[in-house]
Amino acid sequence: MRSCRFRCLQITWIVSILTASTACVDGMAPDDTSAESSAVTTTEGFESGSKTAYAAANVTLGSGTWNLDDALIGTLSTDVKTGTQAGRIRNSGKISMQFDRTTGAGTVTIHHATFGSDASGTWGLFSSQNSGSTWTQVGTSRSTTGSSFSTATFTVNLAGTIRLEIRKLDGGSNRINIDDISITDFSSSGGGGGGSGGGGGSGGGGTGASVSRHTTLGLPAAASTSTPNSYLSVKSGYVVSYNAGRKVPNWVSWELTSAYLGSAARQDDYRPDDTLPSSIAQAQLSDYSGSGYDRGHMCPSADRTLTVAANSQTFYLTNMVPQAANNNQGPWADLENESRTIANTGKDLFIISGGVFSSSSATVGSGVSVPDKTFKVIVVLDATGQGASNVTTSTRVIAVMMPNRDSQISQSADWHDYRVSVDSIEAATGYDFLSDVAASVQSVIEARVDNQ
Ligand code: MN
Ligand code: MN
Repeated sequence: MRSCRFRCLQITWIVSILTASTACVDGMAPDDTSAESSAVTTTEGFESGSKTAYAAANVTLGSGTWNLDDALIGTLSTDVKTGTQAGRIRNSGKISMQFDRTTGAGTVTIHHATFGSDASGTWGLFSSQNSGSTWTQVGTSRSTTGSSFSTATFTVNLAGTIRLEIRKLDGGSNRINIDDISITDFSSSGGGGGGSGGGGGSGGGGTGASVSRHTTLGLPAAASTSTPNSYLSVKSGYVVSYNAGRKVPNWVSWELTSAYLGSAARQDDYRPDDTLPSSIAQAQLSDYSGSGYDRGHMCPSADRTLTVAANSQTFYLTNMVPQAANNNQGPWADLENESRTIANTGKDLFIISGGVFSSSSATVGSGVSVPDKTFKVIVVLDATGQGASNVTTSTRVIAVMMPNRDSQISQSADWHDYRVSVDSIEAATGYDFLSDVAASVQSVIEARVDNQ
């Protein structure tokens, strides 16, 4: 994506099979996975392989083939490195795995420093669960200052097929050295919660937890990248099952704790979702303009205010349905505010939202389906970091269905009046909410209507 220039570089990646006793590879921080007997840790120290120009090209390293785009393997005295070589990125360059890791990714650590006396820069880690077709940022962007290594730690916690990519995000000509990448298995990393989003991964282990922290309580229905009408998009801020036939999400699932709340401004950058392949039909801005419906967020903008990037991510049209203004700006918004109020008391909320459709559902624009009703299920866990195993028959669950026609709902209506049981939403949609919660618990809490 950019012109090149050359420099020496080179890369080495080492895949070490960790058995009970593990060798530390070339001076890396111990990447230890607590001696799990079958754990596999991928490490890459850039010590083998050679790439001396910035132009995009693949290079075979110790761990496998990587693509270095506006990036090279540095060997200069001004390259900050462990051993004799390190990755070096400039501009908006990136370093991307060209092979699939099949045991997921738990925790990733990366050493980073500024090259020579270059200015500080920012970069991020991205993951792909579809062999590089689409990417999602992991956690927060990191800034690099100073010419000695710092260690960046990312909690990925995704199972199955995964690739990782390191992207320089500031776009400037300043250069950043990257070295000593370590990737543990998902199952062996145990969760470990790092900073972003209050995530921790305890109490999980079900299907939903293996997809994302945001689906810790289970997927409402199957979704994958091979089913256009239930296309799975796992984002750092939320998870979507997107319906290409309706051009709206089937459901959106996200975690809400106070850790997601900050002071980032509302970005208002409504746009089609550039992380989906072009083969998946999407709504356009023109489909909504003049339609008489709001672009209604499922995961609200105001639930993602820690960073500009997190807020901007909520403005993908894949997170929107055509929503009646009286619904969206009335009781729906009031319930969104109530959710944040609850989160700010230290609770961990898991929220699933979407539309209820029928064979006679209206459309706007070029076939964007308008839900007959919008639904939301909110599970309130007592403490951050909890998961499916912490849901009990006393856990508060707020479920609502609201009519999605201005003629059927008043903007001043009280959200409490739209409370229903989860069972009734399951009956209306065919989904199974909280599917990773014990069946005996589901049967109790899904039949109850919140009355607090
Ligand atoms: Mn809204
Ligand atoms: Mn259920």
